[in-house]
Amino acid sequence: MTGPSEATIIEALRGVKGPDGRGDIVALGMVNGVMAKDGNIGFAIEIDPRRATELEPLRAEAERIVQAVPGVLSVTAVLTAHHGAPGAAAPRSAPPDHDHAHHGHSHGAEPRPQARAGKALVPGVRHIVAVASGKGGVGKSTTAVNLALAAHANGLRVGLLDADIYGPSQPRMMGISGKPSSPDGKRLLPMENHGVRCMSIGFMVAEDTPIIWRGPMVMSALNQLLRDVEWGELDLLVCDLPPGTGDAQLTMAQQVPLAGAVIVSTPQDIALTDARKGLNMFRKVEVPVLGIVENMSYFLCPHCGERSEIFSHGGAKREAERLGVEFLGALPLDMAIRETSDSGRPIVVADPASPHSETYRAIAKRIWQILEGGTAAGREAPRILLQ
Ligand code: ADP
Repeated sequence: MTGPSEATIIEALRGVKGPDGRGDIVALGMVNGVMAKDGNIGFAIEIDPRRATELEPLRAEAERIVQAVPGVLSVTAVLTAHHGAPGAAAPRSAPPDHDHAHHGHSHGAEPRPQARAGKALVPGVRHIVAVASGKGGVGKSTTAVNLALAAHANGLRVGLLDADIYGPSQPRMMGISGKPSSPDGKRLLPMENHGVRCMSIGFMVAEDTPIIWRGPMVMSALNQLLRDVEWGELDLLVCDLPPGTGDAQLTMAQQVPLAGAVIVSTPQDIALTDARKGLNMFRKVEVPVLGIVENMSYFLCPHCGERSEIFSHGGAKREAERLGVEFLGALPLDMAIRETSDSGRPIVVADPASPHSETYRAIAKRIWQILEGGTAAGREAPRILLQ
């Protein structure tokens, strides 16, 4: 273990003055969740969320001061809503770092208006759709990027928000590197490639930075990605959620004004509990599940083109029917899908004529129909109002 200790970082942060020039942010109890690992530093600064824009220079100053500590390689400071503040990340009075505070079960069952009360709308964005999975490695990010590109190919204005803050892969899949610019020093411009605007925590932190986010830090990072970004006018914002159905995902589903969620699953786990957990999570927070995409559904032999059903192909369809959720489509396990997305040109742009690209475009079209038509799993999909 190298690099400065957490105590050293806290000492350094005493050099950052409080919001109104009084005291310092450590003495004021604003610094939270400091982690220092091999010179990679992360911490949260708790603020009143209404002052988020105004206090951005304070965040930047804290990063600058810590960056100057000998041995520091990278610094990530995030603003988090302070406990109990109106509109704070955890919309109740319990401190957000009490585990249950993220998602009291009773909260999920509250009526819709209240459940959505904490969710500020994102101006100019018509629909936000989450792409989720019960566990990692099922191809959630691959599906998210191809669906975003497919929706663009279908003529929509599309953004892609990489909210997979544990392992952001969209910069690589979208073939985007570098850092987003901020002409006014307050709001970030999204990066763009293949006609789709993209924002990812991966643009802000070095790839080898361990991102061990605690709950409130996750929320703050997501809120910043969502709201401090100049998305402009978008028909659809595709949100690549972290894999799994834990606290972080539930909090996101509660906080982001989602019009619906798409669940990605492989045939072998759909019949198991993972996908169902995803369904239940969204139901709990009253986000309509738009449907299930079965990924790595069958195997296309690259040599002979023969199709072999390695897993129990068709399981997702049956399970979707059983659960009363729409089955949106299936993609095979095909090297072409892996190679193209891993090299920054996902198959929808690399080979638009391929049958897989066609499938992605058909799924994107169906999702748009559901969003605009308002029928997901037999219930009205809520509209994101334009402000
Ligand atoms: P997740 O987001 O669920 O963790 P990823 O989208 O990152 O999963 O996919 C994991 C790996 O599997 C990546 O290398 C990706 O290119 C590959 N992959 C995803 N879907 C397919 C597919 N249908 N065929 C072949 N490889 C795939």
